[in-house]
Amino acid sequence: MKNSYTSQFDAKLPGINLLTHTDVYLVFYDQLNSNNFPSWVKKEKPLLLFIESLQTKKLMPFHKKKLIFKFSAMRHFALECSKLGYPVSYHSTANDFSTSLISLFESNKNWKLYYMTPNEWDFRHALNKFKSQFQNTTEYPNNFFLASVEKYAERILNGWRMEYFYREIRKQTGYLMDGDTPLGGQWNYDKENRKKLPKHITLPGVFDEEPDEITQEVIDMVDDQFSNNFGKSANFNFGVSRSHGLNALNLFLEKGLKNFGPYEDAMTTRGSVLFHSQLSTYMNVGLISPKEVCDAAIEYSEITKSIPLSSLEGFIRQIIGWREFIRIYYEAMMPAVREANYFGFDKDLPTVYWTSKTKMKCLSECVRPVIEQGYVHHIPRLMILSNFSNLTGTDPRALNEWFWLGFIDAYEWVVLPNVLGMSTFADGGILASKPYVAGGNYVNKMSDFCGNCAYSVKEKTGDNACPLNYLYWNFIDEQRETFRKNGRANFMVNTFDKKNSEEKNAIKESSEKFLANLPRLSKKDWLKKEASKS
Ligand SMILES: Cc1cc2nc3c(=O)[nH]c(=O)nc-3n(C[C@H](O)[C@H](O)[C@H](O)COP(=O)(O)OP(=O)(O)OC[C@H]3O[C@@H](n4cnc5c(N)ncnc54)[C@H](O)[C@@H]3O)c2cc1C
Ligand code: SF4
Repeated sequence: MKNSYTSQFDAKLPGINLLTHTDVYLVFYDQLNSNNFPSWVKKEKPLLLFIESLQTKKLMPFHKKKLIFKFSAMRHFALECSKLGYPVSYHSTANDFSTSLISLFESNKNWKLYYMTPNEWDFRHALNKFKSQFQNTTEYPNNFFLASVEKYAERILNGWRMEYFYREIRKQTGYLMDGDTPLGGQWNYDKENRKKLPKHITLPGVFDEEPDEITQEVIDMVDDQFSNNFGKSANFNFGVSRSHGLNALNLFLEKGLKNFGPYEDAMTTRGSVLFHSQLSTYMNVGLISPKEVCDAAIEYSEITKSIPLSSLEGFIRQIIGWREFIRIYYEAMMPAVREANYFGFDKDLPTVYWTSKTKMKCLSECVRPVIEQGYVHHIPRLMILSNFSNLTGTDPRALNEWFWLGFIDAYEWVVLPNVLGMSTFADGGILASKPYVAGGNYVNKMSDFCGNCAYSVKEKTGDNACPLNYLYWNFIDEQRETFRKNGRANFMVNTFDKKNSEEKNAIKESSEKFLANLPRLSKKDWLKKEASKS
């Protein structure tokens, strides 16, 4: 089925006769790499089937740039496969994925379906439904990750921590190993990292790819059909093909990796990327693989001898440690974890998450790039956006939905564990050992936000004080049982208890006033508001 926004694309894709095919290999939006196809698919080149379902707008108002990226990357990959000699059938449809797949197979009774297990739970569900109707279906295990779910899922369920998992994967892959011991003698060099960004340091430019006619057609489609969705489509500059992903990797190796470690946790008003790679966008749809990213980083560092071990190790850990760990957690914890809400918070999202409008500089600086680009790096996600949500008693499931719809690299397998496991402690401590909360001191130490803020980071309570200061202590007091259970965090409760009653009352009073006046807006009401504008 064609829509009016595929003419450039259709003109480049050779026509095929569907009736002449029997074997059909389904390519998902996050499996865009022909290196990962099963070997017989590579050899025999069966019909490749792509389903671009536009029904997503009814489910989630995904960021416009995320939709542009996803659909354009699918279209570019379909064309690339066609050039490699695969017959390609690409369906851009207003129906949902499941209905489209079933209807295609109902019209082509001789087709047999082959596919690789999708990463996201809902698609597995859709395929199980399909399989119950069409038994002539073959599923292959997903090969886009490095670590085995079977080997590690149960240990993660029992509270096994990432650091130990990471050491096993280092041994499995041989990355940064000297025989059986870690290169340099330590597994982790984070003590040398976590520096504030010096004023004089120049930030590298971010990856910037001009949209071609295929991407422009998708931009027009998204602007027209998804105009009420979250985020801005203007200035779309992400890559959309494997070669763009590899260019982004090279740019990062040349300009970012050296300073990745020291400034990994820094935040600044000067930009939202700093020395981060932005490679999650490409890795999460399969355009580039975690293995080739790690291999390239290690090779670059060996050849140039210009990369400190603390930066290289820190970067490799994010990929073979955190990324793999998070994925196994998803496999182990689904689907019950979708409802996780350890603290029982039930408040809607603060309105600022939809608008970026607030007097709090840290929040406005971190929401604005999400609206514009669907991206901020890890620390704003964790220590600003999630922290504020925790401190204001916001429902973690609402936050999870916001991250899922708002970020260019968000897919359920990766966003859910990061939000409900890591950043909000909604799973009660299976992934993280304590809730991630912080006051203004942390933000002031790691960023240049506070100097430009309407609130005073030095003041602890009152109308002029940094809200994070009193909200932090209020949270520690209200959730004291959780902190008490954790040896490492117990000191926070003790510190609060040592405050005199005047201070404690002022903390309570400021918090109650701030929370009572905090504007909030659910996704449903935000959607209604957006719809009423058009
Ligand atoms: C609340 C919250 C939500 C998040 N949501 C997502 C998400 O939707 N999609 C996503 O890919 N990552 C998510 N992350 C993890 C991490 O923040 C992003 O992977 C990272 O910021 C992506 O930017 P980058 O490519 O510049 O990363 P870099 O800092 O350059 O790191 C390199 C790579 O390491 C991997 N990585 C690092 N940390 C993690 C992690 N915790 N989980 C998974 N991969 C990791 C990513 O693939 C990333 O590309 C989230 C983290 C938090 C705290
Ligand atoms: S003073 Fe407080 S609210 Fe303002 S930027 Fe700093 S941490 Fe954020």
